[in-house]
Amino acid sequence: MKKVIIIQARMGASRFPGKVLELLKGKELLRWVVERSLAIPTIDQVVVATSDSPSDDKINDFCTINKMECFRGSETDVLSRFYKAAEQYNADIIIRITADCPLLDPHIAGQVLRLVSSRSADYASNVLPPTWPDGLDCEAFTMAALENAYKNAMRNSDREHVTPYIRNNQHLFKVRNVSSSVPGLQAHRWTVDTPEDLAYLEQILSQSKSGFTTWDILDTIELNPQIKRPSSERNEGFSKSLKEETTHCVNFKNSQALLKQASNTIPLGAQTFSKSYIQFPENTSPMFLTHGLGARVWDVDGNEYIDLISGLMPVVLGYNDPDINHAIQNQLTKGISFSLSTELEIQLAEKLCSIIPSAEKVRFAKNGTDVTSAAIRLARAYTGRDKVIVCGYHGWQDWYIGSTTRNKGVPKTVCDLTTSVPYNDLDIIKKLISTEAYASIIMEPCNSQEPLPGYLQGIKDVCEKYGAILIFDEIVTGFRFSLGGAQRYFGVTPHLSCFGKAMGNGMPISAIVGQNHVMKEMEEIFFSGTFGGETLSLAASLATIKKIENENVINHLWSYGADMGRKIDQIILEKGLGGIVKLSGYAPWKIVQFFDHPHSTSFEIKTFFIQEMIRRGVLINSSLNISFSHGELEKHALLKSFEEVLALIGGYLNKGINQHLQSPSIRPLFKVR
Ligand code: PMP
Repeated sequence: MKKVIIIQARMGASRFPGKVLELLKGKELLRWVVERSLAIPTIDQVVVATSDSPSDDKINDFCTINKMECFRGSETDVLSRFYKAAEQYNADIIIRITADCPLLDPHIAGQVLRLVSSRSADYASNVLPPTWPDGLDCEAFTMAALENAYKNAMRNSDREHVTPYIRNNQHLFKVRNVSSSVPGLQAHRWTVDTPEDLAYLEQILSQSKSGFTTWDILDTIELNPQIKRPSSERNEGFSKSLKEETTHCVNFKNSQALLKQASNTIPLGAQTFSKSYIQFPENTSPMFLTHGLGARVWDVDGNEYIDLISGLMPVVLGYNDPDINHAIQNQLTKGISFSLSTELEIQLAEKLCSIIPSAEKVRFAKNGTDVTSAAIRLARAYTGRDKVIVCGYHGWQDWYIGSTTRNKGVPKTVCDLTTSVPYNDLDIIKKLISTEAYASIIMEPCNSQEPLPGYLQGIKDVCEKYGAILIFDEIVTGFRFSLGGAQRYFGVTPHLSCFGKAMGNGMPISAIVGQNHVMKEMEEIFFSGTFGGETLSLAASLATIKKIENENVINHLWSYGADMGRKIDQIILEKGLGGIVKLSGYAPWKIVQFFDHPHSTSFEIKTFFIQEMIRRGVLINSSLNISFSHGELEKHALLKSFEEVLALIGGYLNKGINQHLQSPSIRPLFKVR
């Protein structure tokens, strides 16, 4: 099995032309990389691959003089350059390294290589997600994977960056990653993009011994605080190579085949209505995803999307977040579910009590429904009353779903105990509560509408006056509006509140929190589950909250959402869609609403909207579920898609948008927001 390292090198770097032949400690960067590559265990050959453009003759000359193998190929189609080099040198496994990473660590690269040479992976890297210092990047892949990419990759960026096709098509290739077990290393930047970067490495190496490892470099940095870091960028891993290229997601063959297969064993083919085919235009939507990174996800047909669904809201930091992964992996080495409680429960309970106004006591569960249902049982036990008022969506259990039109299977006696009220109507609540004994009102503090002045406080006052329990369902607003939820944002403290979704950045965890006098009753009712203290989710939640605090995530959600909102509102106006498309709600969670037009129904417009956004590489349903990973690149691409799709809607409305639908129009299960 021949293992060939191919080092990608060019003279024409825009920020630092000719950098690969610049000297670091008296030695050219390229020579550093070649020498360190030669130290990777078990490799057979090192080849420098540069372009056939005259500007790269210098690299060729350098290699000739120094007796290094040099291969020349296309300047822009770097994928073909790699493929042809691999073919010429009879490689079975290729290790890809770039010439601006002089501190490459042969041992880490050796681990990446081992994943492929042991046949555990077709492709392996150490940047999915980035957990090592930027500048240690390497990838290894089989010749078969490279050949597949060479023959099938279509996008310019796939050809320029060589491996995105392999990474993106994880239904075709076994993809693995080597992560650092030491947290936070991705904050270091040891790659050479600018003269300042080079000066930085020069300072580090002047203090390091020869034959240094990554750990030696980290020690040197720690022991020499006088070494000044250049103003560094975040290590974005592969996302820095993402281009704003228009994506055309038009092939859903694998999704459709899997949906067919899934329906043999899984009713609806999905685990929630919102992820099932009934909520997407069925002929032009992905149905199955393979993986996610930051704000992006990939489907089983290799299509890439900017994701505005974010797993139905849990993903508040981004997919595959290195810090949360680290917390989970660390806990995984100790165990998952235990026979008794763990201290993590106390740590997270104390944390929630310190940030959420209504939290004096806490219990954990898995889904949002677990804790809304616990809150209702608690309120009933505490008040000795049965009837409840609901406002918004609160999950799938009988007590709530009985109040919707999708209440098949719920006994009528249960349905009769729940009254649903519209948002912002305090009088209805006053009337109900003053004429009959209610245990509780449970409500989303806000969703598509903003509360009228005094509305939330008014409800709290009515509840206190008549002895009912006010429950805020903060499953969506929690860890999004503020660290203390919408209750902190609006300054109204309920008796009980429910959190879930964003609490663990995707790990299944929810919490009911509340005031002592009500939560005390928890010891008398039955609320108990095998997985309530499952430790991976608790660890993930602690890490998620820490990151939200440390990185000012809430500010990002507000400012990003507000800017997107302003710009989309502007597009809506420009396209003359004022009465047809509306963005409502608050910046961290904007909801897109559609209204009937004389020639097109709101459902048809929504179906067309989703169809066309997906075609442009935006996965969306009916709200902007933004995360900390949605950055400027994504914003630009999202706004471009909104602009194009709303222009199409404006143009098609009068003749009836249904002529342009490629699937039957979708319909919501029931409308609660
Ligand atoms: N409450 C609200 C406001 C929700 O949005 C949801 C889920 N969409 C739930 C409760 C139920 O949460 P889960 O699906 O995790 O049970």
